[in-house]
Amino acid sequence: MRVREERKPEKTTLSPDKTQDWHSLDAREALQLLQVDQKKGLTQEEAARRQEAYGSNVMTQQKKQSALVLFLLQFHQPLIYILLAATVVTLLLGEYIDSSVIFGVVLINSIIGYIQESKALAAIDALSKSMTAKATVLRGGSKQHIDASELVPGDIVLLQSGDKFPADVRLVQARDLKVDESALTGESVAVEKHSEPVAADDVLGDRFSMGFASTAVTYGQATGLVVATGDKTEVGKIQESISGAQNLDTPLTIKIKEFSNLLLWVILGLCVVLFVVEYLRGADASDTFMLAVALAVGAIPEGLPVAVTIMLALGVSKMAKRRAIIRKLVAVETLGSTNVICSDKTGTLTENQMTVQQIAAGGEQYTTTGLGYRPEGEIQREERQADLRHNKALEQCLKAGLLCNDSTLKEKNGQWLIEGDPTEGALEVVARKAGLEKRTLEEQQPRQDTIPFESEYQYMATLHGGDRPLIYLKGSVEAVLERSSKALLPDGEPGELDKEHIEKQVEQMAGEGLRVLAFAMLGATEGQTQIDHKHTSSDLIFLGLQGMIDPPRQEAMEAVALCQRAGIDVKMITGDHAVTAAAIASQIGLRGRQENGQLVAVTGKQLQQIGDQELPDLVEKTAVFARVAPEQKLRLVKALQSRSKVVAMTGDGVNDGPALKQANIGIAMGITGTDVAKDASDMVLTDDNFSSIEGAVEEGRGVFDNLTKFIVWTLPTNLGESLILLLAVALNSQLPMQPVQLLWINMTTSVLLGLMLVFEPKEPGIMDRPPRPSDQPLLTTKLIMRTLLVGFLMLICSYGLFLYEMGRGATLREAQTVVTTVFVVVESFYLLNCRSLVRPIGQIGWFTNPWVYYGIAVMFLVQALFIYTPFMNMLFGSSPLEAVQLLRIFGAGAVVFTIISIEKQIRFRLGTRRLKAAKKGEQLT
Ligand code: ADP
Ligand code: MG
Repeated sequence: MRVREERKPEKTTLSPDKTQDWHSLDAREALQLLQVDQKKGLTQEEAARRQEAYGSNVMTQQKKQSALVLFLLQFHQPLIYILLAATVVTLLLGEYIDSSVIFGVVLINSIIGYIQESKALAAIDALSKSMTAKATVLRGGSKQHIDASELVPGDIVLLQSGDKFPADVRLVQARDLKVDESALTGESVAVEKHSEPVAADDVLGDRFSMGFASTAVTYGQATGLVVATGDKTEVGKIQESISGAQNLDTPLTIKIKEFSNLLLWVILGLCVVLFVVEYLRGADASDTFMLAVALAVGAIPEGLPVAVTIMLALGVSKMAKRRAIIRKLVAVETLGSTNVICSDKTGTLTENQMTVQQIAAGGEQYTTTGLGYRPEGEIQREERQADLRHNKALEQCLKAGLLCNDSTLKEKNGQWLIEGDPTEGALEVVARKAGLEKRTLEEQQPRQDTIPFESEYQYMATLHGGDRPLIYLKGSVEAVLERSSKALLPDGEPGELDKEHIEKQVEQMAGEGLRVLAFAMLGATEGQTQIDHKHTSSDLIFLGLQGMIDPPRQEAMEAVALCQRAGIDVKMITGDHAVTAAAIASQIGLRGRQENGQLVAVTGKQLQQIGDQELPDLVEKTAVFARVAPEQKLRLVKALQSRSKVVAMTGDGVNDGPALKQANIGIAMGITGTDVAKDASDMVLTDDNFSSIEGAVEEGRGVFDNLTKFIVWTLPTNLGESLILLLAVALNSQLPMQPVQLLWINMTTSVLLGLMLVFEPKEPGIMDRPPRPSDQPLLTTKLIMRTLLVGFLMLICSYGLFLYEMGRGATLREAQTVVTTVFVVVESFYLLNCRSLVRPIGQIGWFTNPWVYYGIAVMFLVQALFIYTPFMNMLFGSSPLEAVQLLRIFGAGAVVFTIISIEKQIRFRLGTRRLKAAKKGEQLT
């Protein structure tokens, strides 16, 4: 008897779970099995049906660290071991209160650490999810761009270089296809693939007729039939390579962990010495042990590692608000010390809003009217609308631009939009201005085949049928002229090609910052259905030039100026023409080597001829690199790095991968970037805009500042605590603080006070100072001096008041409570000093970070509980204080605050004077 399954939709005749040897099937058979037409794809309804039957094309997240494990990991720290040991020993000694307090602190510490760490992880996770993969698919006969998660078996997907396979596909058509399968097989050499079946028992790496999810197309194009989605894919079966576990370790956090481990051993050593000394002196074993525990507890900055992680994670979300998605936490840290940014031109520094403004064809020059993508305006010569009948070269030039074109112009709510490459969109717009219609022309001259544009070849070509089969080609002037031997004359006949004249025209257009494309055609043979590079290698008929403006982005110009003020070099690296690039670079305000008042652009060809020795010098001085092949970017990065530069480099293409990986910060474009580029990057710009890079750098600097502030704030306390204990031992006096009291200080203050520095706004002028040298230690000598100073001040205040209280005849409990409170109060005051490392508080504004005061208020409240409630008195061995005692404590806090304020004021004055002197010196020389 069959049980009817209720929620399952109508069964398709397909059996999704049966494993097929798709690779050994004929492509046609595969299509049949999955019931789909290669030319049309699935219908929308069928796709919806299958989606319900097969589920979404997503891999079930590998079980991440479970909450319990994450929580337990909080105990896996050397310091916590000590505290746990202390818990046990105090328990054995019968000190039940101490024992439970110490354990309570361990527990609270772990809970806080757990909450904060899981928050950080969740934030980073959410960000990476916000970048969903896309796929181009044929549905109901038309091309669509959909979320890869919506793919179902039977979908026909279109792939080109740079795309990742969104699912496992059987290739039904492939053209020069090369695939990087390293994500799956570990093999880093790209494999050639085709649509012919292979033997059924071939292993994964030999299934050349298949494309597997998570591998990437590095070259060529393909049409694939989706045969497996989600967990059914090969990579879904292995899973581990996509577990995507975010790592919260960065060089900084590792350094800090190492530092605290080192500290731990030093302290343990001290503890042992202390224990032995005290024991030999004949002190009580349990007292001595408590002393050693106190020292260990006090000296270690337990809040530090967590705080660092939180601050970095917070930086990630701040950067996301400025449209920079951090893929690797390290980037947050590195961004602050970046000193060179190498940026693409088109779309990053410029708007990528192309408008054709000048045309040269058949020996005539034309200008256009109308701006943007609205197809209204004229093509004019001597202020009169051009007539295509009088200049066949112009007509063909426009036609080539219209037909050798993959973009679509659309009107939406009165707005004209381009789907596809703006360069191509502009060509369609201008053809419409001359009255040419894409749809009618495409019917007369249907496209048979395409050589897509690749930066490497710098051109695109299409083969068209119809009455007179022909090939249209468009691309960079160099690529087109190189292949042309004749030029079309106004009467429509081929004539002599005057390359020199054309080059002059190009120079003139490019000099105005126009991006110039050249056009050509070639008669095709009857019945030809395919073209490749060898068909278009020579004898083309040159048609003309079209020059388009692509205005610089306003905000990019401002961002460049900001970067330069901040000591960051900005360089432009583009595939565009040298003269165009130099003209735009000047408009944007890049600084570099000049000749005759013009920025000098170094071209890819020139780079080829320069040896590795001279390269760094040249690269450092030059601001513009034009006609650069993606592979050369890698050399540029390395050259800069050989001069110890911290390099941020943008990229979007497949071939940009190596350069993005090599750069200290690889930045991929969110909109135009390929999957491969995004994968190789550390950061993705959601708006492709240069100013977002500048924003991220600014945030990076801010985060680093706040981190340093936290460290400078937290270390003196630990220093002061250790010193007071050591001093007490040395003087053989009574213990000024109980271990539980030290724990109280360290735990409450780091959360209630220290973390408030996270909210500290970026310091004004954060982009007016040079980048932090990447090899600079976290704490400069100045900051170390300050740390020592504050540490000693804490010692003097606390021990001074301890002696005073004892001398006055106060109880030990009271004196210890005073000492504990001194630490809390001095830390609160010192927190105000730490809001800026250099600026005196008057300079930064007293109330620009209210969180600091909220934190202090809560801290005082909690401290009041510590002092005055019997329960806390019992737990922590504290005792109520009188008003005068409190007054003295606050006096101490105010004194420390004043001393540090004066120290900062002096340094600040000296600093600005030195800066001014330096600036004067600069102007003189
Ligand atoms: P970039 O993005 O840095 O401007 P590209 O590598 O995209 O550089 O383009 C290099 C050159 O190739 C351009 O200057 C232009 O002449 C040509 N080109 C750009 N896009 C296309 C295209 N879609 N079809 C044909 N040629 C193009
Ligand atoms: Mg481009």
